[in-house]
Amino acid sequence: MRSIRFIPFDQLHQKYGALKDAHKTKDLIVLIESQSMLKGAQWHPERLFFLLSSARHFVQTLQEKGFNVLYHKAENTSAGLEEIQRQYPDTPLICAEQSSFRLNEKLHSRQATFLPNDFFLTPRNLFAEWASEQKIFLMENFYRKQRIRLNILMQGDKPVGGAWNFDKKNRLPPPKNHTWPATLEHQRDAIDNQVAQELQIQPTTTWATTRKGAVKQLNTFIKNHFANFGPYEDAMALESWSLNHSLLSPYMNNGLLHPHEVITAAMKAFKTGTIPAESAEAFIRQIIGWREYVNGMYWFLGPDYRHNNQLNATRNLLPLFTDPNKTSMHCMKATVTDIHTRAWVHHIPRLMLLSNLALITGTHPHQFLEWMRRVFIDAADWVMVPNVIGMGVHADGGLMMTKPYAAGGAYISRMSHYCKGCSYDPTLRIGERACPFTTLYWDFLDRHKEHFAKNHRMSQQVYGLNRLADLPQLKIRAQEVLAGLDNGEI
Ligand code: SF4
Repeated sequence: MRSIRFIPFDQLHQKYGALKDAHKTKDLIVLIESQSMLKGAQWHPERLFFLLSSARHFVQTLQEKGFNVLYHKAENTSAGLEEIQRQYPDTPLICAEQSSFRLNEKLHSRQATFLPNDFFLTPRNLFAEWASEQKIFLMENFYRKQRIRLNILMQGDKPVGGAWNFDKKNRLPPPKNHTWPATLEHQRDAIDNQVAQELQIQPTTTWATTRKGAVKQLNTFIKNHFANFGPYEDAMALESWSLNHSLLSPYMNNGLLHPHEVITAAMKAFKTGTIPAESAEAFIRQIIGWREYVNGMYWFLGPDYRHNNQLNATRNLLPLFTDPNKTSMHCMKATVTDIHTRAWVHHIPRLMLLSNLALITGTHPHQFLEWMRRVFIDAADWVMVPNVIGMGVHADGGLMMTKPYAAGGAYISRMSHYCKGCSYDPTLRIGERACPFTTLYWDFLDRHKEHFAKNHRMSQQVYGLNRLADLPQLKIRAQEVLAGLDNGEI
């Protein structure tokens, strides 16, 4: 045997990582199913099902192509690797750089040789070079450099359409009585059924578990959703859980699709002239901008970044996050119910509902981070740590984002259909019918006003706070709301 090639469950692509130059018979391809992952943290069943079934399908495909593959069940990854290395002493262990600090460390301790992680468009050292030259890590600056470096949506050295973004045309509220395109359903096969049986769950048909299914999802997005993606990318509608979102992040995050393939398909469609620039730019930004930036920041900021708690938030995770019946806030009940159903909601409920509530209630960042990591289908460590700690709950003191994403009910009312069916009123900040978001938004600003006084980007908010005549009553109401949320009664 020439080498052992370790393939983690998030690098399931034959053309990248440790498989790229693997030999069908001279190398042993190893995937390890960690039993502690199955028994340990309370992962969302859809997420477990997706990861396991995708890996088993991938193994089947490799075997059909003649690769020498070992799918090994072990107590955990380290134990599994040790068992295999004992069977094949003196055979070098080769892997691509892993996608989390934890797994990277495990592979280091097994004396693995590392190949570069090419599951992203930006090598880690290139991102670190950019980041080390920045005073503040503005995603927008990184994104523009990416557009130029990758030559995407560029006309010479100018952005296509004359602008780097078309935000004025995008970020629209959800339209009334709109018919959204149907989402793709993925049929289950014998491997899926076996995994479902082992996990004792009845999975949805929302997520593909094969490369073929992931490609079908990409094609469906390009054909049915891409043209209208931009305008409603931030909207939250009652009639559709996915609107025009691509639903591709799980596949890019487990390797079934490479971002390069996604960008190529998007640009091919754009060049036909059927995709408006605002939709093309908004989608491209997510892939070559946000996704790469978040991964780059994860590695650049290091393993201790996740422990930040600069706003000294100490509240325990609210019961409504684990049980939607513990709240009468329509937006939160609907969002957590959606997560329970299919382990997914789009970026705005994640940021402006879930994270916003954790932020303004002063929920402990680590508890909230762990919950977010457990419940989302695409919740890789590199995604969640910067997104939650830096962007969601501002626990890094503004290292990543210059101001916190705190908002009251007015934003949610504008961008969603939720408030009409709610027992609270987004325009009220005191009284029993006051929207908890609105009350707690002001209370949050008040609690941290000294901290934010130094931040010129927060001056408007702090000015608004200083003009509130009913601040004393609001602070009393905020205490009632926080107690109610703690008890699952709001
Ligand atoms: Fe959510 Fe407040 Fe609107 Fe109710 S009123 S749906 S709690 S934002």
